[in-house]
Amino acid sequence: MRKAVQYAACGHRGCLRPSHRQLLTGATVVTMVRTVGSVGFGLYGAVTSSLTFLLIGLGIYWVGDMADGALARLTDTETRAGATFDIVCDRFCAATFYLGFAWLDPSMVLPVGVFLFEFMVIDMFLSLAFLSWPIVSPDYFGLVDRTIWRWNWSKLGKALNSSAVALLMVFTRSALLCTIVALGILGLKLWSLWRLSKLGIPMPNGCASSARAAVA
Ligand SMILES: [Zn+2]
Repeated sequence: MRKAVQYAACGHRGCLRPSHRQLLTGATVVTMVRTVGSVGFGLYGAVTSSLTFLLIGLGIYWVGDMADGALARLTDTETRAGATFDIVCDRFCAATFYLGFAWLDPSMVLPVGVFLFEFMVIDMFLSLAFLSWPIVSPDYFGLVDRTIWRWNWSKLGKALNSSAVALLMVFTRSALLCTIVALGILGLKLWSLWRLSKLGIPMPNGCASSARAAVA
């Protein structure tokens, strides 16, 4: 017989609990709606060369991203599936805005390229690394490593990482300044990755074959 997975009843907010494994929650619906809204307005802004619509799309992404997280915490329905879905939807929303902005203002193509490499490759990997630990989302990475959490997923860390380059692009239109800031954030992410590798990413053990588990 297959053994049930044992969950530690440690009482930490953010540690895995067996009651929290559903795929569809209210918060996940909010993630879907804000993603469709954000990408819709962003694409419309790009094809009509409208900065206003691009910014509405960016606003829906940011407000919606705060709302889905807040709803999940309020209703106590934070799940790993919801957190993973949120992480990938963030990339879709951000890519639409940044590429749309570069479409409007081609002088921004370098900072946009650097930021998207940072956000869609390095930060994506960092964000999904939470799955290797028994926690619900990167918001609780502080249980694993306080320093990595502070620089990446604390309120300040998130604000710095997600909004600095977008706001600088809109308000300064300086490709040099935006590229320097994007490179700075990329450096922070690479440093986080180095710290994560020193920490050691846990590997699951045992055999994954259901046939073999049934025999054992
Ligand atoms: Zn715990």
